[in-house]
Amino acid sequence: MNSFVDVPAMISACRAALGTVHLVGAGPGDPDLLTLRAARLLAHADVVVYDHLVGPAVLELIGRGAERIYVGKERSHHSMAQEDINTLLVRLARAGRQVVRLKGGDPFVFGRGGEELQHLASEGIPFEVVPGITAACGVASYAGIPLTHRDVAQSCTFVTGHLKDHSCDLDWPALARPRQTVVIYMGLSGLATICAQLIAHGLSAEWPAAVVAQGTLASQRVVCATLGTLADAVARAGLQSPCLTIVGEVVRLRDELAWFATQAEVAPTLSKVMPVTHVNTIEA
Ligand code: SAH
Repeated sequence: MNSFVDVPAMISACRAALGTVHLVGAGPGDPDLLTLRAARLLAHADVVVYDHLVGPAVLELIGRGAERIYVGKERSHHSMAQEDINTLLVRLARAGRQVVRLKGGDPFVFGRGGEELQHLASEGIPFEVVPGITAACGVASYAGIPLTHRDVAQSCTFVTGHLKDHSCDLDWPALARPRQTVVIYMGLSGLATICAQLIAHGLSAEWPAAVVAQGTLASQRVVCATLGTLADAVARAGLQSPCLTIVGEVVRLRDELAWFATQAEVAPTLSKVMPVTHVNTIEA
């Protein structure tokens, strides 16, 4: 019997038998904000493993024959534990399948994309990363709020407002500095605390702040207020998640720069002054 083993050939045969995991950012909601690479991968994947934040319009781009696996991750009721998602990705790739792991926004911004890749790397699974437009960028653009603006905000900080055990250990003195924009991911549960802490650390109660709900979608709603009034204004508006909070003087620019008029925002205001049937009429 020939005991000679061609190790390099064996390794490349094993590699060829392995599928690749493509960690893909789906952007903030509007499917037109996907990268071309993301759209191509969705059309050709064998299986797509996707999160709660990925909307139906993006899922429509998945090719007909592909299997879809929803792994959830809504706040408070994860439908699949992170370890199980990791194990699933390895199993699918070992079965030789081309896997798209689809996450809202950008996979490396509050998306745990790095953790999933660490697991794949430790198991020897090939992977690639396709960036997506993160919520802060997409949502701010569609809300007409530039994240930086000369003389107003020279830097921008992204933080997560996800409060563990109702406590929040953000770097308040840093976040309360002027001439910057602070974008807070992860919903509204800590909003009143966040506004109060920013005021306690030196920002005025009149400092501009906004919450954008379902940004970039037709259902987008924007509530602009101040640190002193935002929590109440948001509660009155009854916004639906996902919601992103933007704090800083750039919020005022929305008065001039709002361009994305959605049915959810425009109709109630215009219907007071003209019948809704006239809303889309452009007269020559
Ligand atoms: N990886 C994602 C963020 C995941 S954290 C990204 O890069 O965008 C989830 C948070 O993102 C939500 O709680 C919300 O704060 C924000 N978010 C995502 N999509 C949003 C949208 N369309 N409108 C408003 N906020 C959004």
